[in-house]
Order: sequence, then structure tokens, then C-alpha cells
Amino acid sequence: MASTLRRTWAEIDLDSLASNYRKLKKHIGDDVKFCGIVKADAYGHGSVQVSRTLEEAGADYLAVSSIDEAMELRTNGISMPILILGHTPRDQVAKLIENNITQTITCEAKAINYSQEAMRLGKTLKVHIKVDSGMSRLGYLCEGDFYEGGVEHIVEDCQMPGLDAEGIFTHFSMADEEGDEALAYTKHQFELFKSVIDAVEERWGKRFRIKHCANTGATARFPETYLDMVRPGLLLYGYGEYARELDLEPVMSLKTAVQTIKHYPAQTKVSYGGLYTTDKKTRMGVLPYGYADGFLRSLSNKAVVMTSEGPARQCGRICMDMSMIDLTDKRGVGVGSEVEIFGKNNPIEAMAEAAQTIPYELVCAVSKRVPRMYVKGGQVVEKELLLRF
Ligand SMILES: *Cc1c(COP(=O)(O)O)cnc(C)c1O
Repeated sequence: MASTLRRTWAEIDLDSLASNYRKLKKHIGDDVKFCGIVKADAYGHGSVQVSRTLEEAGADYLAVSSIDEAMELRTNGISMPILILGHTPRDQVAKLIENNITQTITCEAKAINYSQEAMRLGKTLKVHIKVDSGMSRLGYLCEGDFYEGGVEHIVEDCQMPGLDAEGIFTHFSMADEEGDEALAYTKHQFELFKSVIDAVEERWGKRFRIKHCANTGATARFPETYLDMVRPGLLLYGYGEYARELDLEPVMSLKTAVQTIKHYPAQTKVSYGGLYTTDKKTRMGVLPYGYADGFLRSLSNKAVVMTSEGPARQCGRICMDMSMIDLTDKRGVGVGSEVEIFGKNNPIEAMAEAAQTIPYELVCAVSKRVPRMYVKGGQVVEKELLLRF
């Protein structure tokens, strides 16, 4: 269903995405596989279109957080391998196998469940073993005193009937942090991971076909961690300092258009709570973009958007559906003029910093009310609005 409103929209540049993929592929080299992280609707970019683009470009794997996200891709014709990073309930194992979806195993109890269910079905479930090397979230704990037990459990679980342990992976918690401490922590995680792999493979007598650990930070900075496959998310979408260093382009441009222009005298209070008072005669633009669209309310009075005549500051509390910008010195920006919230002309990193958050949160916050416009070769090739018409 297409919207007839020219309200707020997100342009997803599929050419930039493909180009980022090619540049990253060149960066990692031919021998390393590429797993595109497309969880959370591909960080708000639209997982189906992003996955299609990656599949066409030749990526090797996709990773999502849940079976629902995986099924969304299968239902839309994505046939390449998909890894689920999170948990899947036992009663969904048949669906995983039927749809050739790879499941992460994070502990022995789950391995037993999956094995029993696969056996009951007389089939095999493809799995990747998750090692907790210091993230302290999911995975077989292998640190310090847990090393022997962790390795032992992984060896047992790899041999369970009904399971095909294709891969093993871990996740870094500080690969994108600066400083010696973070560097040492990442190195320790990596050494522990490698040591677990060696010990498991030796006792198991088989090798994992795909070993992987490099997220965005590691893909950009630590080639020694690539192993068989890298697994970047943010980098692929072209955000953050590492994306700049690698000459990658931001894939999403969030845009809106000025809805109304108002003129106020000095000393006029603007929006809820009177948080902003005009200090001069002010020409104020109203944008149809508010916190229900993903404009974090904590950015009130702090955000800067980009107009055709340069940056304009946002004034007063951000409302649910609207926000105001000062257009006093921008006479050429009027009703209907396009404004970029963030994107190629207004880097998301500055807005993330102003909100004391990370670009991840800003792209994930772009709500379902915001239609996605997929652009290829300078043309809008698809529009998508998630409303229940
Ligand atoms: C989200 C996620 C990634 C990608 O992280 P980025 O920082 O976006 O590169 C990689 N691996 C796992 C397990 C994840 O959950």
C-alpha cells in the first residue's frame, strides 16, 4: 500500500549498500566469507530488500535474531544461508529444518532439546556453536575455571545425533572501543576463542567449516580475527568512524518536508513546556517528524537538520508527530522544501552524539510509520509503508 502523503520518508540507497559490500569484500579478501547482519529489519533499512541486494552481490550468509526474522526472508524468496543468533523454541525445530535455517546453540540444555527434536523428526539441524569469550551474554562459558567444562560440553554437543555443527563463533564486546584496555580485552577474547576451537577440534576429531567472530570493529581494525567469515552490521550500512575510514557510504537518508511556516516575535515560547523561547523575530518551520517517527525526544533543542541553505537547529520539545526548526535566515526554504534529518549530507554520527547514543539506536528507531523508499540507479524502485490497510 502506497502512501500519498509527502510526510517523512527514509531513502534506502541500495547502490550504496552494494558498493559498501564490494568495498568490504575487497577489504577482507577472497578467502574470507561475508555474513551480512540483517537483524532488526536490517537495522531499520528493510531486511528483505537489503538481503536481496546482498544475495545478488554474492554475500555468503545472513544473520538475524529470531526465527520470525528468518522466515520473513524465506517467505520473500531469500534462499541463501541464514543464521539465527538468538534462541528458537524447541517446537520450531521442524520449521528451521524445513526452511534450511541455521540455529545457534548456546548451552548444553538447548543442544539436547534440538538434538532430541531433530531425531524425532528423523532429520538434521544445522547449528553454529556460540562461545562466550567475555561478552557475558549468550554462549558456552569458557573463561578461566569454566574452560575445561566449556570445551567438554561443546565436544559432546557437536557429536549429538541430529545436529550438524557447521560453525562456531563468538562476539566481541569492545572491538570498537579505543584504548589499550579495550585492545587487550579483544585480544584476550580472540585468543580464548581460538584456544577453545583448537581444543574442541582435537577432541572431536573434526573441523568446523565456518569459524567467525569479527563484528564491525574487528572487521575494520583487526584482520587477524577474520578466520573463515566476518559478520559486520553497522559497517555494512555505512555508519561510524570506521565506515568513513573505509570510504563507505551511509545507506539511509531520512528526509522530511517543511509542512508549515510561522512567524513569531521575540520572546515567544515554542512547543510543550516552553523549553525554547525565541530570542529574535523568528521564522519557524514545522516538520511532520516527531518521536513517533523515531526522533528521540531527548534531542529536543539539540538536533540540527540539513536544509538546502545549510544546517537548521531544532527548537523546543520534540512532539509525537512534529518538531520545529528555525528557518529565519533561510528564506529559500519554504513549505514543501525537503529537509534531511540525517543521511549523506547530515551525518548521523553528530545526531547520535547529541543524543548521547550510537548510530545503531537512531536507525533502529526509525518507526514503521516512516515509509522506506528503495533507490537503485537514481530511481525509486520500491516503496514500502508498514500500515495495516
Ligand atoms: C549485532 C551483531 C553483530 C553485528 O554487530 P555490528 O556492531 O553492527 O557489526 C555481529 N554479531 C552478533 C552476534 C551480533 O549480535
